[in-house]
Amino acid sequence: MEKKALFPRKKTRAVKVGNLILGDGQPVRVQSMTKVPTRNVTATIRQIKRLTDAGCEVVRVACPTEADVRALGKIKARIALPLVADIHFNYRFALMAIDEGVDKLRLNPGNIGSENRVAEVVEKAKRHHIPIRIGVNAGSLEKDLMEKYGRTAKALVESARRHIAILEKLDFRDIVISLKATDVPAMIQAYRLASAQFDYPLHLGVTEAGTLVRGSVYNAIGIGTLLQEGIGDTVRVSLTADPVEEVKTAKMILEALDLRSGVRVISCPTCGRAEIDAAKLAQEVEARALKLEGPLTIAVMGCVVNGPGEAQGSDFAITGGKKKGILYVNGKQERVVDEKKLVDELFKEILKRGGRRVNS
Ligand code: SF4
Repeated sequence: MEKKALFPRKKTRAVKVGNLILGDGQPVRVQSMTKVPTRNVTATIRQIKRLTDAGCEVVRVACPTEADVRALGKIKARIALPLVADIHFNYRFALMAIDEGVDKLRLNPGNIGSENRVAEVVEKAKRHHIPIRIGVNAGSLEKDLMEKYGRTAKALVESARRHIAILEKLDFRDIVISLKATDVPAMIQAYRLASAQFDYPLHLGVTEAGTLVRGSVYNAIGIGTLLQEGIGDTVRVSLTADPVEEVKTAKMILEALDLRSGVRVISCPTCGRAEIDAAKLAQEVEARALKLEGPLTIAVMGCVVNGPGEAQGSDFAITGGKKKGILYVNGKQERVVDEKKLVDELFKEILKRGGRRVNS
């Protein structure tokens, strides 16, 4: 469920990706990318199912070889999410990916060779209503732009402009743009410039952001800054970690800005007063809450000092006592429960009172 944002979203063109619309004021969509060889169909589908359960809405797969491209149809037939083929240079792979039934291509038209080849891909994409994401990356900018602007926001936007011009010349406008950099201020600036100049939906991301904690912080600052300015239509958090963590982080960024009403788990940092293993309880609650649909607030508090107060602002809460915990519903004490059964009892109560499981 989506709440009304506190800041106006920049209006962008609607681009259809499978059964979803990107842009045009639609909810900001969460994307991720699989991290197993795409030609390993079973492993790819398994990972996509885990991503779907975690709340991913669009999934991209890498297509470095023909075997990967040939696997796309089999994957597509067994998943529920729109499927994006990541094609770098090979125009033949782009044509084949469309035949395999993908919902979107990620490719930079300036990188796939002669004008004829570009025209062939674009004509086919047009015929099949397949959008193209132009993905500009600070790590692979054109030499002349690097010489003129360095690895800057301006160079990223100029590079995107060149790729966009190729597609527009062929009267193709089902375009999504990304301008990723590892440098967060440069990335923010690039998207601001792009948002002021183009009306295509923007796919936000900080590239090669790092491992779980560092990458989440860098992504949250880069993506979050832009979203709170109303910029961005879809997000991909890139982390050197399980892709499910990317989806969890992306959803938390959206929730923090009230762009998505998820399940929010509030937990105290714990201190010397804790009479219960609150950190372990919070982790368990967080993991199980992923399977629930929001909006819902659950508080996990280590002791009774702040527990009752926090419980009052939450739909459900547990606070620690001596080897026991107190379960609260709608701010009122429900019952005292043994520590070992606390999480089970909490979720029983949530489901009993109308909490819904995702995909159920
Ligand atoms: S709720 Fe209790 S255990 Fe948690 S930080 Fe506050 S005083 Fe410490």
